[in-house]
Amino acid sequence: MSLVFTGCQTASDPGGAPVAALTTTSLPEPMTIAPPAPLAAPLPIPQPAPNLVQPPAIAPFTPANASPVGRPWPAGWVNAWVPLESWGKFNGLPKPVLLSGGKEPLYQLQSGNGLVLVKIGSPSVNMAGMQFGLGFAPRLIKGLPYVHSLDAQKTLQALADAFFRLPATNRTVVIDAGHGGRDGGTLGTTGHEQEKHYTLDWARRLAPLLAVRGWRVVLTRTNDIEISLADRVAVADRVKADLFLSLHFNSGIPNRDLMGLETYCLTPTGMPSNIIREYDDDVREAHPNNAFDEQNIQLASRLHGSLLRATGAVDRGVRRARFMTVLRGQNRPAVLIEGGYLSNVGEARRIAMPEYRQALAEGVARALE
Ligand SMILES: [Zn+2]
Repeated sequence: MSLVFTGCQTASDPGGAPVAALTTTSLPEPMTIAPPAPLAAPLPIPQPAPNLVQPPAIAPFTPANASPVGRPWPAGWVNAWVPLESWGKFNGLPKPVLLSGGKEPLYQLQSGNGLVLVKIGSPSVNMAGMQFGLGFAPRLIKGLPYVHSLDAQKTLQALADAFFRLPATNRTVVIDAGHGGRDGGTLGTTGHEQEKHYTLDWARRLAPLLAVRGWRVVLTRTNDIEISLADRVAVADRVKADLFLSLHFNSGIPNRDLMGLETYCLTPTGMPSNIIREYDDDVREAHPNNAFDEQNIQLASRLHGSLLRATGAVDRGVRRARFMTVLRGQNRPAVLIEGGYLSNVGEARRIAMPEYRQALAEGVARALE
């Protein structure tokens, strides 16, 4: 199995330039969607208190709270190859079981959150039935399976601990419909449907579903206007968002066979990205959103699983990217979802159906209950 990493064509920062200093004068006015009137028994919907400073709902990851279950990450497991068995033992798991041999042996670990399948030489790991991109392909050392310490800590451990908690009250989410205005995003297979219209429709379907779940929902755009990537980040800062979600559709051009869902979060420092584009993917970079590495992948996993269940789409994995300007400057957990490939005839046809976009909206909403 090999993964091909592609993406919609315009979500990147073409110059690879650092995020410019933000000004508040030119920002678009975000639109807050009020919770709709309930149909039957009215539910109390928490309203944000605008002048009240809320404590951060999700504690940022720091080495001091690296292990929410009280185990410090082993000092020797830094920039090193870790035996899969040792990582399992660290989590109280039984020894890895060899499922299949050959050139790229496949190992299985039984964890409390489901099976972990590690394939030697593979760019991804399968956890609880979902694909997660790795920074380093697992390798055999003296005949035993090893994973890189960054993958072990930032992906395997983050998902094994799964301590991400959504804020219960006074919670604000920014929904970012990708592209807009002159930036149409990628095109559907007939050459007419533009990504920007589908992302906006998805966002508009999603907003009321989140509002009834008690979220204050802020959209970066509610119509066909162009907004810079930096301004999309600034909106989230200004409304003190707890979460940021950017919605996109994908292009695999020239490969029209690619189809399925991909969910992205920022690459941890030290780790190569799963997708680079034209960006100079320097592993030494540390961005503001790297303070949320663990929450990012936990949120991404939660969204990805819910979206797969809601749509039945092909799983193309939770992946890491460093070039996405809308993610890396975020001071909160942030995820970018590619809701399918507009370059694939069958998937473009499904994306064109309102029912599919409603399923995408419900998939996101259910993950944020
Ligand atoms: Zn896009």
